[in-house]
Amino acid sequence: MISSINKFNPFPTIAGYNLVDELKNFIVSDTCIITMKDIWELYNHRFPKNIDVYFVHTLEEIELDKEIEKFNNYKMVIGFGGGQALDIAKYFSWKCNLSLFQFPTSISVDAVFGHRSGIRRGGNVNYIGWAIPESVFIDYEIIQSAPSIFNYSGIGDVLCFYTGVLDWQFANKKNKCEQKWKYNSELAAESLKYVDDLLDNIEHVKTMNERGIDTIVRAHQWGGNSFYSSGWNPRHIEGIEHFFFYNLEFLTNKKFIHGQPVCLGFILGCLLHNKLEDKFLDFFKSLDFNFTPDAMNINWNDVDNALSTLKNYIEKNNLWYGIGNEFEYSSSLLDQLRDTVHSLNKI
Ligand SMILES: [Zn+2]
Repeated sequence: MISSINKFNPFPTIAGYNLVDELKNFIVSDTCIITMKDIWELYNHRFPKNIDVYFVHTLEEIELDKEIEKFNNYKMVIGFGGGQALDIAKYFSWKCNLSLFQFPTSISVDAVFGHRSGIRRGGNVNYIGWAIPESVFIDYEIIQSAPSIFNYSGIGDVLCFYTGVLDWQFANKKNKCEQKWKYNSELAAESLKYVDDLLDNIEHVKTMNERGIDTIVRAHQWGGNSFYSSGWNPRHIEGIEHFFFYNLEFLTNKKFIHGQPVCLGFILGCLLHNKLEDKFLDFFKSLDFNFTPDAMNINWNDVDNALSTLKNYIEKNNLWYGIGNEFEYSSSLLDQLRDTVHSLNKI
């Protein structure tokens, strides 16, 4: 048990089947569904007819704010889709004080379990807002219908606890922990339990059965909500693996399936900390989740650029202290990363 006054209390989450079909029993007439076009084509027949729909087309705050007047006319919003639809549903719920229900259609990222929306200001991501859904609905059938790459992507937001904790321990050893985020072994241990749980459930994750989905969702509840419930402390949930991803996104300006660059950053973090244990290699080998640059439509030069500028990026953006602040970039590090990732994907 965490011996702090702060209590981890994730958003109400209900898993089951045919959950969308229940909407007609509690939806109010002034409701808007926030989704993406391709997802809506697949599922609109399951929603009440004539319902208003908003397709996410921008994450830019300045553009979103032009829609506020329209959303002020609603009472309820329902996020239905991936990270972007859920984030924008949170945004309008916060801005216009609307009740919020969330239906993720895959478990690619932990966004649905956090209070803030990742909106862009001039292309740069900012996490702002405060939205608490009445409920997050995990419909097993809908999640299982998503292409497996999206659901496997969800492991990134679990494995990051491991490299996040390694970075926190590293900073602690060097006496470089931020004043407001002193090392807390209870928080760190709690995070690592979710990583162990993920590895223990590999067979269920592989087939994405109910238990596999539950395993990832439980970890995402922790990742999304314990940032807040530990006093907006991110140290036990992310570190170098996300920093690497942010820099890669910044340099390439490409859209990623979240877990791919995060898992690449995870391997990088493990290598730098000298903690790439066999249990992780075995885990990746048994999962058909490809996170080579090829699979992300980038190349090793992009990865090289993200590596050689990583320290600078971390310092410039004032990110929390870890191995990324101290490692020496070298071409042999890139070779090591490439060999490891290729061996996992049997290339
Ligand atoms: Zn993430």
